[in-house]
Amino acid sequence: MDKLEKIAIRRMLTPSLYIQGKGAIYYLGQKAFAFGDKAYVIGGPTALNVAGERIKKSLVSNGIEVVGWNDSVRECTHKTIEKLAESGKQMKAHFVVGVGGGRAIDTAKAVAWKMKLPVISVGTQCATNADGSSESVIYTEDHKFVEDLYLPRNPVAVIEDTEIIAKAPVKYLIWGMGDAVSCRFEGEAYAKARLKKKDGAVPTSAALALGDACYKSLLANGLKAVTDLKNGIHSHEVDEVIEAVKLSSAMAFENTGCALAHALHNGLTKTGQVKGEHGEIVAYATIVQGVYEKRPRDELQQLSQWCEKVGLPTKLKLIGDPSKAALRMAVEYAAEKDHNIKNMPDKVKPSELLEVMDRVERGQF
Ligand SMILES: [Zn+2]
Repeated sequence: MDKLEKIAIRRMLTPSLYIQGKGAIYYLGQKAFAFGDKAYVIGGPTALNVAGERIKKSLVSNGIEVVGWNDSVRECTHKTIEKLAESGKQMKAHFVVGVGGGRAIDTAKAVAWKMKLPVISVGTQCATNADGSSESVIYTEDHKFVEDLYLPRNPVAVIEDTEIIAKAPVKYLIWGMGDAVSCRFEGEAYAKARLKKKDGAVPTSAALALGDACYKSLLANGLKAVTDLKNGIHSHEVDEVIEAVKLSSAMAFENTGCALAHALHNGLTKTGQVKGEHGEIVAYATIVQGVYEKRPRDELQQLSQWCEKVGLPTKLKLIGDPSKAALRMAVEYAAEKDHNIKNMPDKVKPSELLEVMDRVERGQF
């Protein structure tokens, strides 16, 4: 908990600039110029293979020299961050550009902070809402969660070129929606918890409204966006979903907090017996949170039916078959140890959580 949280003020963290659209990448150089003329570009191999030429062109045509180029980020680890920050210092870069999915962008954000430089995010797919946030999730080389690194500032610009994002495999957009669908449920739980416990930053109404806007947009546009992308059509609905994931969900979760859905996700992944992607597990766990909270039946069915239609799991058996002991371990971790659980208004009981998961499995809610 930082000092701001202790005095329960309202705060809102956001990137300074968000640009989304076909060809938005060409704004990179124009907007980056305000931060200097020496760029250090950091990304994953696929992302820079797809977007690298356009990034270079946009920077160079605006008089910016690319002094560093690293396209080998595969995992956001402390070691990689140290190494990239060290070489960045030799290059005397003025700003960092992070390109790709969550791992590359989280790495770039942490490298920029180590170098005390501004960072610009360029997303190339829609599985993550990391682009605009001031948080980096650190893992081990073999993708085991280490810690959340809270950085003191957000990226100075977030650039989402929808032409690039729409051409990425559709599964990324589905996973991104699965993660984003949680932010309204978790944000509302967070708000109730703060009101009851009086122990931290009060969420702004703006952040809660963004969570709600995100949810409404996903429900209204998600299925059409998935269908369109499968048919190679870049429609208005695709752009709406990209905004819901990349902007609304990011600012909603960053300015509220994760709760039971992410706690359960973390517990389930710890068992090693649940194989779904982050967004898939979170979507399932959001249904569990909703049932646990005793939300209205209509609302729960709407959420569950939407998940099913867009291709997100509504039952645990679709993403793994953990043993009874593993399941017990997962719920105990989620209810008692995971840091997100403090954002539930009341104490979560492992036995009750197991019972709710059983009902979700049988579709009885
Ligand atoms: Zn998440």
